[in-house]
Amino acid sequence: MVLLKDKKALITGGSTGIGAAIAIGFARHGADVAITFVGEKEDAAELSAQISSLEREFISIEADVTDYSVAGKVVSSVVEGFKGLDILVCNAGINIDSAVWKMEENEWDSVIDVNLKGCFNYIRAVSPIFKNQKSGKIITISSINGLRGKFGLSNYSASKAGIIGLTKSVAKEMGRYDVNVNSVAPGFIETAMTAKLSSEIREGAIKESALGRLGKPEDVANLVLFLASDEAKYITGQVIQVDGGQLI
Ligand code: NAD
Repeated sequence: MVLLKDKKALITGGSTGIGAAIAIGFARHGADVAITFVGEKEDAAELSAQISSLEREFISIEADVTDYSVAGKVVSSVVEGFKGLDILVCNAGINIDSAVWKMEENEWDSVIDVNLKGCFNYIRAVSPIFKNQKSGKIITISSINGLRGKFGLSNYSASKAGIIGLTKSVAKEMGRYDVNVNSVAPGFIETAMTAKLSSEIREGAIKESALGRLGKPEDVANLVLFLASDEAKYITGQVIQVDGGQLI
């Protein structure tokens, strides 16, 4: 079953990890995909080759999600390139972990800016379009650590809890225009973000998990794909965990 035939999607932070898995999953299901990223040009080029081999259109734009005016320009150029936009996935995110008594102001600001303001910037840019066309899917990537506290993650947890509040409010605002807005809250997923964490943290996550293992980017991408499809048209304002039972 093809879930996103000829849909047009924009994924922030789509060059690696979870974002790249979402991009490939969407293209396999018939969507044209645009991504934003910072830094890794080679990853974006590799993804471009993979998506082209699936015979779907691909746009990649190096753009920092924290820049409000750039977000508007990115959305306009994707709409122009694809002749429309149906799906936004706010995925770009970073972590700079530190106990609160050691956290520098810039460590707090950067994480809140990329993770939370980045979501606002892109939701703000697509919302008039989705409102006018009376359709659209917005999926934010939060975290189970936005649903609980965790040592060393005050900035990250605050940003992800903020994303959950943003998601629910926008779901209320956009529901009357037939726009679905949901959040996916992953547990510990094996990506570049978690590769830098200690083996102690890794083992702790495996122990917490009911399934006794860590997640893969595709585990998250599969749920995002479902939420982006019309199979999920009566689901909105939800936060759904993909965590192997880490937070139950
Ligand atoms: P990753 O480091 O592989 O990917 C992060 C992506 O964000 C990259 O494409 C990077 O280019 C992009 N990015 C970073 N800063 C950016 C900026 N300022 N502007 C634009 N793009 C930017 O990490 P990942 O694990 O795939 O993380 C993806 C999302 O999933 C993040 O929001 C992260 O918080 C969330 N998440 C990850 C896990 C996990 O265990 N890996 C768990 C819960 C939530």
